[in-house]
Amino acid sequence: MKKDELLDHARQYYDKDQILKLKRAITFATAAHAGQKRLSGEPYIIHPIITADTLISWGMDIDSVIAGILHDTVEDTDVTLEQIDAQFGHNVAMLVDGVTKVSIASSGLKNIDTYLPKTKDNLSKLLIAVGQDVRVIMIKLADRLHNLSTLKYLSHEKQIKVALESLEVFGPMADKLGMGYVRMQIEELAFSYIYPQEFKKTKNLMKKRLGKSTRKLGKIRIEVEEALNRHNINAEINGRVKSIYSLHKKLAKVNGNIDDIYDLMALRIIVDNKNDCYIVLGILHSLYKPMINRIKDYISSPKTNGYQSLHTTVITPSEQIVEFQIRTQKMHEFAERGLAASFHYHDQKTSKDYTDNNISSSLPENMKWITQLQEVVEKLKDGDEISKNQLYIDLFGNRIFVHSPKGDIYDLPEGALPLDFAYLVHSDIARNAYGFRVNNKIHAFDKPLHNGDIVEVITKRSAQPNQAWRQLVTTTTARNKLQGQLRQSNVAVLINNATNIIRRKQKNK
Ligand code: MN
Repeated sequence: MKKDELLDHARQYYDKDQILKLKRAITFATAAHAGQKRLSGEPYIIHPIITADTLISWGMDIDSVIAGILHDTVEDTDVTLEQIDAQFGHNVAMLVDGVTKVSIASSGLKNIDTYLPKTKDNLSKLLIAVGQDVRVIMIKLADRLHNLSTLKYLSHEKQIKVALESLEVFGPMADKLGMGYVRMQIEELAFSYIYPQEFKKTKNLMKKRLGKSTRKLGKIRIEVEEALNRHNINAEINGRVKSIYSLHKKLAKVNGNIDDIYDLMALRIIVDNKNDCYIVLGILHSLYKPMINRIKDYISSPKTNGYQSLHTTVITPSEQIVEFQIRTQKMHEFAERGLAASFHYHDQKTSKDYTDNNISSSLPENMKWITQLQEVVEKLKDGDEISKNQLYIDLFGNRIFVHSPKGDIYDLPEGALPLDFAYLVHSDIARNAYGFRVNNKIHAFDKPLHNGDIVEVITKRSAQPNQAWRQLVTTTTARNKLQGQLRQSNVAVLINNATNIIRRKQKNK
């Protein structure tokens, strides 16, 4: 991709002034990277140009695209952040700064076990960069996508390192942002490098299988189309094929038996509105026999990353098992592009609106835990143990939503215990936790919470945190608050003991 192609692409979406600014950025970055080469032998500038192009195709705002052009200048050339600030404005400078911090925080890491930064300082940098503006992550993802697609030029050792990191960190990141399509691209590329044999094998298995079912599925598709027409439902139907990587993961769960995988190929039905989604579900269930435990309503309860759809798996009269996904155009857009959809150039006035109103650049509700984690890390004392595994789970593990009796929503990592919830609500409530009621039933301290639980903390003034609680918390937030309280109560006990000794001595006198 050349500079001119990028500009042609950009002209379709941005106005004259914005294009001028983009041109200036390209000239600026080309000069800064002059003489540098990619391992492929091409001039370095090709990399930021492709990164920026990806950001355009995701529909990002012009500042993100410009930051994409400039993203490696501060780290790899003599250019300073001040220069970028002066030439391209504060917004762009802030984005470039964020991307640079993420790179620094994750550099020098040998493998995934040590992916998370070693020092508190680097960790804060990473979290602040991630938490300050979600566009930073998207630029990083576009950057990573190009690096993955040019992985063949790297040494084998480096290939594995980058691929692993992508699979374990950037894939889940994209997922957290609801960017399903990007996650899939990252996973597919990374997987093909880490397990080339597995990748080939799974791909062939898939091919064989698909040949058979595509023909059969074609018939069903026509049948469904006709039924929807009869009911005057305006719909678009297309097939979606499972990614190789997710097939690989699923195969592992079913002992390698591909016959047990029902959603190898699914039919996707896109309709005009939410109401139609449910009508279509009804029509499908009147045509075919649904597998009751596979009906999922992600419209009324969206996945934690915001994904919405109705899923159902049915058995046709010819004994074929077919999965359907039903959604509106808007839900579809979100499922593919996630949070990037909210930066869409169509909805966007000027970049100034973004910063002034702080519209979508702040973290979405389902990622607010990053800010919480950031606060915890800020408060860590030097020498406090940061558990890598723990942080990894906090950052990239699955999340669940639980409710307080008043209906407030809290989000926790999967496997969280009641005390984790209590500490999330308030340290003082946790301090006096005496018991828990979950969905109106008494719930043990060591029993994990589940998505959708309503959790009530029963407090008693006499209840106090004790050492045993250390086994009953799982999140970094809870662990740190508990540690603080235990320290405090230790001091209190010491003072109390000392007072008693002095009293006794005085009595004895
Ligand atoms: Mn880069």
